[in-house]
Amino acid sequence: MKDTLKQEQPIVYQILENEFQNNKKPHAFLIVGKNYDDLLYFLSQSILCDEPIACEVCSVCSRVKRNIYPDMIRLSGKETSIKKRDIEDIQAQMAKSSVEGKGKIYIIEEIQNSSKEAINSILKMVEEPLDNVYAIFTTSNIDRVLPTVISRCQVLKLNPNNKAAIERLYLENNFSEGDAYLLSQIFNDFVIVENFPNIIKEALNFIDDLFFKKDNLIINAQIGFINKYNKKEDVSLFLNILIVTLKELYRSSYTSKSKMVDVIDLNRRLMSIDRSIILNYIEILLDIEYQLESNVNMNLLMDKMMYQLLKMK
Ligand SMILES: [Zn+2]
Repeated sequence: MKDTLKQEQPIVYQILENEFQNNKKPHAFLIVGKNYDDLLYFLSQSILCDEPIACEVCSVCSRVKRNIYPDMIRLSGKETSIKKRDIEDIQAQMAKSSVEGKGKIYIIEEIQNSSKEAINSILKMVEEPLDNVYAIFTTSNIDRVLPTVISRCQVLKLNPNNKAAIERLYLENNFSEGDAYLLSQIFNDFVIVENFPNIIKEALNFIDDLFFKKDNLIINAQIGFINKYNKKEDVSLFLNILIVTLKELYRSSYTSKSKMVDVIDLNRRLMSIDRSIILNYIEILLDIEYQLESNVNMNLLMDKMMYQLLKMK
């Protein structure tokens, strides 16, 4: 985790290293951004570990990582807003003496989703921190965090995820190499899409028909994708899978390499096809995807897409 952090969030790592190596541990941190789990663990470990920066192997570090360290509380404003009562619970917990005889940590995620009373209680806690008690807050929207809270915290701003980092997150969550690559090209963040396994199947069938069974394209699309999905986000995902797969197909037609097994397979079967048609398809699909964003009639748009794709020889 340390090496990944150094590589992907060098500024954040530098700040932590300076403070922790010089024994200037702030009592409150505010992590700004999404996908902060790695940093959250690393920061908590570094606060508690006997080494200045988390060693990641001692019993403390390993229990923090497994969420079983007793002197840590985690509260999230992701689903429901944070109430004054929640903060009073935390205050009571933090006032007790530490089980492990080391520091105690309370974590509040998405701190901007707190009631006014709750945020005032939080403010009191960071203004008069107890000995050996540390706060870690996170927010995906720093504009909605009170400046008085921000000024009491060491702010750690995460870089937006790069493609490689997103791909790694998908791999860590047991997606196949091909799917992880594909999704990292589509999304700017790690998101789980419920319908993904079905939509990717439909999209790959669609591409197969497009190249090998064009006569079946309309009827298969009607009973398949178009019939099953009419939500904008599903259609957008479908179009994006088509676009990324075709781009990858075009790219790999020169290198014969791809992380997507379906693309390798398509490439093998497409031996005699003029590659420029792939570019034409991509162009049509990009235009359709663009129009999708402007709230057009979905059925008409799908008809238009089919017409344009079939017209292409
Ligand atoms: Zn350690």
